[in-house]
Amino acid sequence: MPEILRQIVHYGNHLVVPFGIAMLLFPRHWRVAGGLMVATILIDLDHLFADPIFDPRRCSIGFHPLHTVWAAMVYIGLLMVPVWKIQAIGFGCLWHLCTDGIDCRLGHLGTDPDGLLGFVWPLVVAF
Ligand SMILES: [Zn+2]
Repeated sequence: MPEILRQIVHYGNHLVVPFGIAMLLFPRHWRVAGGLMVATILIDLDHLFADPIFDPRRCSIGFHPLHTVWAAMVYIGLLMVPVWKIQAIGFGCLWHLCTDGIDCRLGHLGTDPDGLLGFVWPLVVAF
């Protein structure tokens, strides 16, 4: 896939698709829910703990602390809270992981089938 198309897919998934998901899940509050889902891009602040902070050949999934299976379990826990804004944040974080996982696949990053991404990818596809 051409790099420019990969970037369009990636940032479309981060910035536009959440509003579509919000329309399906929170039809009465889709604008705010979509905004909250987009705001979950803030979990990328965990990149600041990495050295180097940005590495175009590195897959976020399974590397950065807020992009791990453990973090995903917390995000799933947010779905159990009976408050739609908290649930929107949970869905946004899980969609963020899906988006980054898709980007890793499209960019052939971290595709070691025995590595953590190999473990996480079936979970990502399940969503
Ligand atoms: Zn990310």
